[in-house]
Amino acid sequence: MPEQLCILYRGFLSSCNYACHYCPFAKHTESKAEHQRDAAALEQFLTWVETRATPTSVFFTPWGEALIRTRYQKAVQRLSYLPHLEKVVVQTNGSWGLRWLEAVNLEKLALWITFHPSETTLEKFAARAKELLSLGVRFSVGAVGIRENLDLLEQLRAALPTQIYMWVNAFDRRGRNYYSPEMLERLTSIDPHFALNLERYRSRGQACHAGHTVISVDGFGVARRCHFIETPIGNIFEADFEAKLKPQLCSRGLCDCHIGYVHLEQLGLYDVFEGGIFERIPSNWAVQASSRTV
Ligand code: SF4
Ligand code: SF4
Repeated sequence: MPEQLCILYRGFLSSCNYACHYCPFAKHTESKAEHQRDAAALEQFLTWVETRATPTSVFFTPWGEALIRTRYQKAVQRLSYLPHLEKVVVQTNGSWGLRWLEAVNLEKLALWITFHPSETTLEKFAARAKELLSLGVRFSVGAVGIRENLDLLEQLRAALPTQIYMWVNAFDRRGRNYYSPEMLERLTSIDPHFALNLERYRSRGQACHAGHTVISVDGFGVARRCHFIETPIGNIFEADFEAKLKPQLCSRGLCDCHIGYVHLEQLGLYDVFEGGIFERIPSNWAVQASSRTV
């Protein structure tokens, strides 16, 4: 049984206020019954987290945008005041109003904010990042490194205060040929850790924290090692559930998403992202930021 646990929660929510053309949740409208189902599942999950005795972190990785929904804003508020809650992290597009943050214990909040160039402007996104910074919210920002957007990503990096870490996700990892050497240089200049995301890690048989100290939980309470391995470990609402969490080797061929490979022991990324593993902020970013010229 682990001494501490991080739970990636992905409930029934499946809608978004943005309309990215590649995304199945774009502008999807949920029915009242679907919202009620997600709210009930979220409530059951929160109640379970509240009754835990050991240090716990919660990372919301929704299908869609959760923080435009009052129930998720309230969930973050509620979790942020739990004594055993180490951190609550949310993947978001950052498009919501700010008022709800007034009731959050910001010391325990962190955000992973993705820039979607087809849905907002650089100016609006950078302004939002600056607002959050001035409020004292901890967050990273980032975007997908599509070749056509390279100039825009550089402009965004330049528009952001250096103390904000900006990551870039590799768009095509089937080969480095998608990017020219010059593009790789520019991307690395935006995100000094870009090379980490460019790899597709051969994970089968490798030790991974997922399934031991990190799990993924769905709206039914079914726990899996991570979002990428379907086999359930059990259900968090079962009495003996935590006894099933133990160190184990990965059963999947490749792992290529930060929320997965960051837990691969051989990569040593807990050191690189210490204190910011889930919100994706390198541990020494303040030092790196102070010497940056962009
Ligand atoms: S912001 Fe994210 S969830 Fe929303 S439409 Fe775009 S990719 Fe999908
Ligand atoms: S390496 Fe990736 S796919 Fe394998 S268990 Fe860890 S997070 Fe899951």
